[in-house]
Amino acid sequence: MARLRNDGRVALVPTMGAVHDGHVALVRAARTKCRRVVATIFVNPTQFGPHEDFAAYPRDEAGDAVKLEAAGCDLLYMPGVMEIYPNGPAVTVSAGPLAHVLEGKFRPSHFDGVATVVATLFDHAKPDLAAFGEKDYQQLLVIRELVRAHGLKVEILPVPTQRAPDGLALSSRNAYLSEAQRRVAPALYRMLASVAENLSARRGTASGEIARGTAVLAAAGFTSVDYVAVCDAETLEPIATVHAPARALAAARLGTTRLIDNIPVVIPES
Ligand code: AMP
Repeated sequence: MARLRNDGRVALVPTMGAVHDGHVALVRAARTKCRRVVATIFVNPTQFGPHEDFAAYPRDEAGDAVKLEAAGCDLLYMPGVMEIYPNGPAVTVSAGPLAHVLEGKFRPSHFDGVATVVATLFDHAKPDLAAFGEKDYQQLLVIRELVRAHGLKVEILPVPTQRAPDGLALSSRNAYLSEAQRRVAPALYRMLASVAENLSARRGTASGEIARGTAVLAAAGFTSVDYVAVCDAETLEPIATVHAPARALAAARLGTTRLIDNIPVVIPES
């Protein structure tokens, strides 16, 4: 895309579609910072593992366009696979060490796929700013590192996680949940909130809270727990003694649906 007129800053909001109020919050936040907002919809094959839900990923491009325009999006870019990967599986961007922990252990090539598509979308749209959700906290850090490592002139705007009234983080993948699973799902947020609250109040240790949180998810009805972690909010290194800034993060499955969430651990000034 060539910029024909330079009449103000341009924001980019990359999405995989199936637009919900989390995506809308990104567009609105971007809008407060920039004159123009470009949203993208691209279900990126390289960030899905071989046994993941690429083929089944929910798609509703017509409905998405209506919601994005109402949120204040000026241009919707929906490239095809050939526009993003004209040479097929060619050179990719390595997401670096942050990509190997937490999500990276369960989705080994995921963040390389994310970094590759985001670098390509930055090249196509040439944004001044790009908005990313804290819902995908590790992704946000990977993108920040991508920008820092390559000296890209793109400001990264983090946007707080948007939640349903019962606390469940909004996600396109929530559409996979049965009614019974949907009732169980908010336990993930409630668990993270209680871990963060206990650590903030200096009740218990990080390892004790991780063990308790894992047991809470199993008791609530989660099929399996990939991880519950308390990490340094910048490096994602696990921490034994909580110091600000820290983050509690978790991933767990309800049947075949994998949910992730995270929350800041606020340490009051002593
Ligand atoms: P996705 O379409 O799931 O790839 O997400 C596109 C962007 O929306 C990413 O930056 C996500 O972090 C962000 N996002 C997804 N869900 C939420 C949410 N509940 N709150 C805030 N941002 C979100």
